[in-house]
Amino acid sequence: MAAGRRILTFIMSSVTKITCLLILFYSFLISQTNKCNYCKEEIKGKYLQADGKKYHPNHFICDHCKKPINSSYVDNDDKVYHQHCYNEIAYDKCDVCNDPLIGSYIIDSHNYKYHQKHEREYKICDICGRLITNKISSGGVILNDGRNQCNICKKESFKSVKLYQSYLSGTISKLSTIGIKIDRNKVSIKSVDRNELKDAAGSIYSKNMKGFCNSSLKKDAKGRIVSSKHIIYVLNNMPPEYTESIIAHELFHTWIRENTNIKHTDQLEEGSCNFISYQIMKKRNNYNSRVILKNYENDPSHIYGDGFRKVKNKFNGKYIVELLNYLKRFDSI
Ligand SMILES: [Zn+2]
Ligand SMILES: [Zn+2]
Ligand SMILES: [Zn+2]
Ligand SMILES: [Zn+2]
Ligand SMILES: [Zn+2]
Repeated sequence: MAAGRRILTFIMSSVTKITCLLILFYSFLISQTNKCNYCKEEIKGKYLQADGKKYHPNHFICDHCKKPINSSYVDNDDKVYHQHCYNEIAYDKCDVCNDPLIGSYIIDSHNYKYHQKHEREYKICDICGRLITNKISSGGVILNDGRNQCNICKKESFKSVKLYQSYLSGTISKLSTIGIKIDRNKVSIKSVDRNELKDAAGSIYSKNMKGFCNSSLKKDAKGRIVSSKHIIYVLNNMPPEYTESIIAHELFHTWIRENTNIKHTDQLEEGSCNFISYQIMKKRNNYNSRVILKNYENDPSHIYGDGFRKVKNKFNGKYIVELLNYLKRFDSI
């Protein structure tokens, strides 16, 4: 299951729901008591009996479709329904096939709800996590490097290479407003496809990687940095918010390398970089940035997800300088 998706199980809240089987009776006797509970007319011949009341065979009516019920029915809140009609009103509908969502289903970070089987029938956008269907994403394409891209991301994604330079500068400015100083002259940026990212990251490449920062630091005998250079690689063909979130994450790696002399655990380092990216996304406050925030919150990965949640628990609502000082003094969280 990809990041940002959760499986929910619908649990029936009402205890009054009863599924019953209708039995057809045959009345030989015509008496005062054999009156149809629906039309109040006398019953001659066949009738149905439910909950002690009698009905003409066509007068036991579903409260939803208003058509007669003649086999099993659901009794809920003093109303009766066909089983399928009850399913229609009691459960949310699948955003893919429109059938009721009974039992377990997926809810993604865009709040689309659908049956788990659809994840096997359709592709998932490698950028935003939407299921690629006509209804949800207006379809999608396969990029040259093999990534699946939905048509919403395709429409919003960066077209010009120059934009990466301005986003790098912009993100450095935003970081500076929260107290994280980074020297623009020491950082360069390259937009790459997945194959190029794989080459750049080498042995540490992983399937979900969207960015990577290669730092070269020269230190003197006392461990002080004499010169440094950082190259940020960021996947191309992503909408601006996704690009910016990756840039912010990678930039914070450069801050940690420049300003601390400690080898941190992956959980503390990646969790901190996600936490800083989270702060930048909070400032954006638009649809895509809110989805990215949700993805950070729900990321199931031990390093990135748990790391982020640990850092957030400890430093959310505090001054960023407290996290910076912590990183200078401690190697784990
Ligand atoms: Zn009747
Ligand atoms: Zn019905
Ligand atoms: Zn479905
Ligand atoms: Zn997408
Ligand atoms: Zn990282």
